[in-house]
Amino acid sequence: MSSTVIVVLVVVLVVVALAVVTGVVLARRRRIDLTERRPAVEEGRPAGYQAGGGIALTPGGERAVEAPPEPAAPDEDEFDVEIEIEVEPLPAEPVEVAPPAVDEIAPTSGRLEKLRGRLSRSRSALGQGLLGLLGAGDLDEDSWTEVEDTLLLADLGAATTAEVVERLRAELVARGVRTPEQARTLLREVLVEALHPDMDRAVRALPHGTQPAVVLVAGVNGTGKTTTTGKLARVLIADGRSVVLAAADTFRAAAADQLQTWAERVGAEVVRGREGADPAAVAFDAVKRGAEAGVDAVLVDTAGRLHTKTGLMDELGKVKRVVEKRAKVDEVLLVLDATTGQNGLTQARVFADVVDVTGIVLTKLDGTAKGGIVFQVQRELGVPVKLVGLGEGADDLAPFEPGAFVDALLG
Ligand code: GDP
Repeated sequence: MSSTVIVVLVVVLVVVALAVVTGVVLARRRRIDLTERRPAVEEGRPAGYQAGGGIALTPGGERAVEAPPEPAAPDEDEFDVEIEIEVEPLPAEPVEVAPPAVDEIAPTSGRLEKLRGRLSRSRSALGQGLLGLLGAGDLDEDSWTEVEDTLLLADLGAATTAEVVERLRAELVARGVRTPEQARTLLREVLVEALHPDMDRAVRALPHGTQPAVVLVAGVNGTGKTTTTGKLARVLIADGRSVVLAAADTFRAAAADQLQTWAERVGAEVVRGREGADPAAVAFDAVKRGAEAGVDAVLVDTAGRLHTKTGLMDELGKVKRVVEKRAKVDEVLLVLDATTGQNGLTQARVFADVVDVTGIVLTKLDGTAKGGIVFQVQRELGVPVKLVGLGEGADDLAPFEPGAFVDALLG
C-alpha cells in the first residue's frame, strides 16, 4: 500500500469518527430538551382536570362546570411546541336532590306524664299549698279560708272553688282523714272529679269515607294558635294519620310562612293563598286538596283576631260555613293562653257565640302558677280541654288527661 492510500484512509477514518461523535452529542441534547419540557406541560393543565373536571352543585341543584383556572402562562423560552388541552364539560345528567329531612316525632301517649315537670309552678302554688293544709289533720275555719284562697289564686274560679271546698269538708269528716297520705288520696279524687273525667277528649280527626276530617283552629293572635296547629299536625302524624294544613290566616304572611315550616318539618302539604286572600276560600281549597290527596285530616289555622272586632269574628263563622259546603267540620278547637286568666275566659265566651267550640287547647301552662284555669274554662264553656301546651318545643303539646294532670299538680 502506498503512503498516499494510507493517508487517505486515515483522513476518512477521522472524518467518520468525528461524524459519529457529533451525532451522539446532538442526540443526547435532544433527549435532555424533551425530558425538561414535560413538567412544563403538566403544570399547564387546569387543576380540576385530573380531579374529575371540577363539577359542583349550584344551590338550585343544577349541574355546573367550574370555570377552569387560567393555566399558568407558559415560559416562551421553555416551549418550542404548542400543546392545546381541551377540557370537555361532563354531559348533563339528572341530579338526585335529597328530600328535606323530616323530624322524628315524640310518641303522643304518656306525654303529659313526661312533661309533668313543666307544671312545677302550679304544683308549688296549688298542689303543695293544699297538701300542706289538708295533711295537717283537723282544719279550723282559718285553714279552710286558706284552702279557698289557694284555689282562687290558682284560677279555679269561684264556682269550682266553692264546690271543691264543700266536697273536701264533707269527705274529710266522713272518711275520718288523719294522715297526709289519706289527705292526698282524697284531694286527688276531688280534683279529678271536678275536671269531669268522663268528657270526651278525643280530637275528632278521623276521615269520613273519602272525606278528610276538618279541624278549625281558632284563637286570638299570640295565644299560640299557629304553633298549636303545627304541633297538632305532629301529634296526628305520630299517630299514623296524614294531614294537609291550611294557612287561612291570610292577614299575616308570617303566619303562613310559620305554618309552612311546621308542615315541611313533618313532610305535610300546606295550602296557602295570597296575602289578603279570602280566608274562607283558602280553607275551602285546602279541604278540596285534602280530599283529592286522600288525607285523614285537614287542619285549618284561621286568622287570629281580636275578639272585640265584630267583623273579624263574623269572618270566622263564614270560614266554617264555606268549608261546610264541601265537608263536615269535625272540630273547632279554641286556643287559649293559660297565662291570661280572666281575659282568656272573656275571649272564650265571644268565640263560643260565633262558632260551636268543640274543644279547648290551653297553651303556656308551663309559664303559669295558675293551672287551675283548666277547671274554670271547662266549667264556663261546658267544653272539654282536649290538649295542653307545655312549652315551646315542637312536641310540647299533650293530650289532656285529668288524672295525670292532677298527679302532676300534687307531685
Ligand atoms: P298565634 O299568633 O296565636 O298564632 O301564636 P303563635 O303560634 O305564633 O305563638 C305565639 C308564641 O307563643 C310563640 O312564641 C310560641 O312559641 C309561644 N307558645 C305557643 N304555645 C306555647 C306553650 O305551650 N308554652 C310556651 N311557653 N310558649 C308557647
